[in-house]
Amino acid sequence: MEVSYAAKAFATIEFVRHLARHPIGLDVCSMGELLTAERAEFRPDRLTLHGAGKTDEELQAACGGRVGSIVVDGLEELERLAAISRAASARCARVILRLNVGIETETHAFVRTGGDDTKFGIHARDETAALAMLRANPQLGFAGLHGHVGSQIPEPSAYVANAAVLLGAAERFAQAGMRTERLVIGGGFRVKTHPDDGGESLDVEQTLGAVRTYVVNRARERGLPVPRLGIEPGRAIVARAGTTLYRVLAVKRQTHRTFVVADGGIAENPRPALYGARHLVVTATPASGDDAEMTLCGRSCENDELGTVRLPRGVRAGDLLAMCATGAYTYSMAGNYNRFPRPAVVGISDGAPRLLARRESLDDVLRNDLGLEAQAK
Ligand SMILES: *Cc1c(COP(=O)(O)O)cnc(C)c1O
Repeated sequence: MEVSYAAKAFATIEFVRHLARHPIGLDVCSMGELLTAERAEFRPDRLTLHGAGKTDEELQAACGGRVGSIVVDGLEELERLAAISRAASARCARVILRLNVGIETETHAFVRTGGDDTKFGIHARDETAALAMLRANPQLGFAGLHGHVGSQIPEPSAYVANAAVLLGAAERFAQAGMRTERLVIGGGFRVKTHPDDGGESLDVEQTLGAVRTYVVNRARERGLPVPRLGIEPGRAIVARAGTTLYRVLAVKRQTHRTFVVADGGIAENPRPALYGARHLVVTATPASGDDAEMTLCGRSCENDELGTVRLPRGVRAGDLLAMCATGAYTYSMAGNYNRFPRPAVVGISDGAPRLLARRESLDDVLRNDLGLEAQAK
């Protein structure tokens, strides 16, 4: 099993440097993520370039030896890559085709990326054209097939279904003389972040066992070489490692609800507003009284609720709260709405804290603004 961590879940240079010491690859989907990997001295051959729409600069990076593999997300992109690789002097990254596997899982439609009406991947009708383009461009080394069905998937069966569609394509590719060495079944393993959420986290070991058995059996049955399996977990690796600390700025008892206003919100943690993400919140400093239901919100000029929480009635301004399991897609999605600086990130290993990203300063927030020159004159 080849594991490639999806950098978009969380990446800083120090964290990627830590990953580089392990037998794991890294999926990057922007120049920023690629540069992070390079500054962390991550081995280029273990990097995979992703993205639903890639820029010329990114395709040139793939043709310039900066990544080992590229997951091509469309026919047009394959054509552009072919053209750039013809002009390039370095060896082009190995090509993995992302297929729109069209899987209608019974799972969360709102985070699905593999249904046949999403923007991701190559549509089945374009498969033959993609094959022809690869054969006409031998400088593009074909490495395998890819399908990613979505995020927060609780069902092992979705991964087996995905592998089945990919293997079907691998069979057609084999008939055309193209060997699928790698079969990448994506990430999206569900991580439960609130005890009241139904169900459990996806059992990754069991899921991968089921996929492996299916792939080995079916490949043998059809006389195909067994491809190497690949996964791309993001959340499953970092979600539980992260905790967000909030300082309570105000507690307001309104007609029906008690609002706890924290020194964060939609700017540094957009996920609750974006797709109703829920996290367990506990007090990190002592507070008296029995627990009561309260609404935790941020201090943006929005109704930016971070969740319905149970906290001691005595909670008040100055207290610290801990929001659990925010390691994935929180810091990486943070922005500067309301011109709030982004928070710092501290990594803790064997009890020893270490700063991974410093707190943004107000100068950082203003650094792209022009206009101060006029004042100086
Ligand atoms: C985001 C993404 C992943 C990781 O998803 P998680 O839910 O964090 O595991 C894997 N593969 C692709 C193609 C992605 O876009």
